[in-house]
This record gives sequence, C-alpha cells and structure tokens, in this order.
Amino acid sequence: MSNDKKIFLDEQEVPRRWYNIQADMPTKLAPPLHPGTKQPVTPDDLLPLFPMELIKQEVSQERWIDIPEEVVEKYRIWRPTPLIRAYELEKALDTPAKIYYKHEGVSPAGSHKVNTAIPQAYYNKAAGIKRLATETGAGQWGSALSLACSFYGLECIVYMVKISSRQKPYRRSFMQVYGAEVIPSPSDKTEAGRRVLAVTPDSPGSLGLAISEAVEDAAGRADTNYALGSVLNHVLLHQTVIGLEAKAQLAKAGDYPDVVIGCCGGGSNFGGIAFPFLQDRFAGRQIRALAVEPTACPTLTRGVFAYDYGDLGKLTPIMKMYTLGHSFMPSGIHAGGLRYHGESPLVSQLYHDGFIEAQAYDQRQIFEAAITFARSEGIIPAPESAHAVRGAIVEALAAREEGKGRTILFGLSGHGHFDMTAYDSYLAGDTKDAPCDEQDLARFLADLPQI
Ligand SMILES: *Cc1c(COP(=O)(O)O)cnc(C)c1O
Repeated sequence: MSNDKKIFLDEQEVPRRWYNIQADMPTKLAPPLHPGTKQPVTPDDLLPLFPMELIKQEVSQERWIDIPEEVVEKYRIWRPTPLIRAYELEKALDTPAKIYYKHEGVSPAGSHKVNTAIPQAYYNKAAGIKRLATETGAGQWGSALSLACSFYGLECIVYMVKISSRQKPYRRSFMQVYGAEVIPSPSDKTEAGRRVLAVTPDSPGSLGLAISEAVEDAAGRADTNYALGSVLNHVLLHQTVIGLEAKAQLAKAGDYPDVVIGCCGGGSNFGGIAFPFLQDRFAGRQIRALAVEPTACPTLTRGVFAYDYGDLGKLTPIMKMYTLGHSFMPSGIHAGGLRYHGESPLVSQLYHDGFIEAQAYDQRQIFEAAITFARSEGIIPAPESAHAVRGAIVEALAAREEGKGRTILFGLSGHGHFDMTAYDSYLAGDTKDAPCDEQDLARFLADLPQI
C-alpha cells in the first residue's frame, strides 16, 4: 500500500466533522476586543457582519462540529483531495526521507480557500442573507467566494485591490464567470474609498483599505454580510478537513508524519493541515508542526505577540496575535497571499506556547524550490505554497545530512497557474529578495494599540 503513488479516500470518506482545536489547546485564547470600547467583543457586535452560526463556531469549545450535509455535498466535487507520495522529489534530493503532500490545488478555484468559502456562503444563505461583500488582494479568496456564492445563489461583491485588478485581469474574469461583481478598490461606492480617492485619485489601493470598503458595505445593508478568507477561528476550523483527510490517508498507507509543514499567511491552510495532528501531540505523541513565511512579511519569526487591529482602518476587532503592526506595508513580493501583517490568533497562541515552529525564507529561495518541485512532481505551485515546498526540501536535506529517514507531510495550498508573471520574472533573473527592514519594523511595531 505504501508504494501506491496516490492514495485516495473513497468518496464517502469526506470528513463529516471539523476539528475544533479550541477544545484541546492548553492555553485558551485571549478575547478579541471591540475597536471602539476596547472591551471584549460580544456576539451582538458581530451580528451586522456574520451569521450567528459562524459567530458560534468562532467561540465554540466543542471538539467536533458537524459539517452540514449540503456542505459535504459540495466538498464532494473535489474532495477528498489527493495525498501524493513525492517519489520523484525524493529522488531528486537523494534523501532517505519520505515526503508526502496534500494537493489542495485540485479545487475548482485552485486553492484551499474554497474549503471555507462554501460553508461561509451556506451559513449566510441559511440566515437569509442575500449578498456577501469581501476583499481580495491576489485574487484567490475572491475567486473562492465567487464560486461558493454562485452555488448558493448569493450575490458576491468583491473589492479587489486596484493594482491587482490591473495586473491580474484573468483573476477578475474568473470571478465574473461565477457572477461576482468585482469593484476595483479604492472605489466611490464607500465612504472609506471616497476619502482616499479625494486625496489620491490614482491610488493603487491596499488590502487594508479593501477590507475597510467591504466591511463598510456589509455593515451598511441588512441584506449583506462580510466574509473573511483567513485568520478567524471559524475559517481555520473549516480548513481542518485538509488535516483530517491527510491523517486518514496516511493511516491507509501505514504511515505517520514526523513533521507537518504549511505556508503561513493568515494561518488557515497551515492550521487546517496541522491542527488534527497537534491533537495527537497534546495527547503525548511526538510530532512537529512547522509554519513557513516570507522574510518580507515575517510575522511569526520577527513579530510580537500583542493585541492589534486586523486592518489599517482600525474597523476590525483588536486581536491578540503575532503582528508586525497594522500599518505594516510589506514589499511587493509575488506571494500576495502571505503579505498580511497579522496571524491567526489560534496559530499565534500555539506558537507562543511552543507547539509550532516557524521559518522564513527569501523570495528567490522559494522560486528555486518551486521549480525543483515542478520539474520532479510536475505541478507548478502557487508562490505561497512554494514556501511549504521549500520547508519540506530543507527538512529532506537535513535528513540526508544526518543519514536518517523521517516522514514529512506538507500542504500544497494551491496551483500557480495564475502566477506565471511571477515565474517569468524569476526565470528572467528579475526577482529580488526583499527581507523586511529592521528600522521599518521598529516603526510599525511602535504603533500598536495600548491595551
Ligand atoms: C491565500 C493563500 C495562502 C495564504 O493564506 P493562509 O490563510 O495562510 O492559508 C496560501 N496559499 C494559497 C494558495 C493561498 O491562496
């Protein structure tokens, strides 16, 4: 069995429950605070933006949460995703390590983000909501939510960072195929957008501003809610389908990982693959979890664990998390999905408590790893996912150095078919490393709210 190239689960084996790590983590999360009063957020504060079922999941302490049948049905379109033994990569690295990867790029939107887009659209529909507003930077989250909204007959409004909508016209078309309305941000549709346009009519926009526009849109209309693609507890909960499947698939192969690796932006694909394994670690089993981030946005490796805002406009709750400061402006690296200043509170607390390790790599190391992977395994990874590939390669080479085997599992969070400009730039030798500057960092960190 362990010699099978691909290990699929039967279609009945799509998980029926999500794993909620809040039930088992030794230190409970610090409560999120209201940005105005700085008091703990109440469910009522969140109701203008989210349906009650998602608010309940956000704070739930139940270990297992049932996945609605209507969501399982949609998951079945592409789940279970394949778990693949990377024989060719192992050969190319001449390593005694066994490398497995979980391929989330097979989803219809090309990344893991659909795993949460579908339940989020479902719960909003069930709560009588007609429209969902969101933001997108690189376009992955907007694509996933557009698809999910089309499944459930919801209108989808995507505020897309203006510069990305110009640079990535095919991402915009992708969302429009599913019926979404894509609005370049800053726009004249919101107060937040108009304020920026008045001063800088040619503003390229930013993710922080696009969040502010989407939140304002949702808060201003009773028929509209807001949806976020990472960071929040309920998002990581939905993503645990990745790790739950991987665990069952590895069990079929008679294997278990020594280390689980994921790239880390807001923490959702990493938490999704790692949390079901950390459950075993809480019960005493030896297993490492490794989060990989860019040196341009080194939230875990160089940030601080503190209360901070989730957006530039200070509209979101203040969360206790690893952060580089809400005004942090990362350089324009190609892994757009990893350019967030903050980090999921769940991943942050577990990192703080020593259950998670983190590493940061430069952009060129990432593309080098991506190309090694593409030429051996045949799949072109998203630049974000290439961080996990790099982490796995480093582990496999360490195994070779030490002359002993180990089992590595990593998450391939998405394919890179919309990122060819990034690959072009790397192949032409134009890609620069852009590690975050020490002085900049000190300046952004000085701007945290006083709690
Ligand atoms: C958005 C995205 C990420 C980063 O988000 P996380 O919440 O950290 O998972 C990683 N990989 C891909 C392919 C993405 O689209």
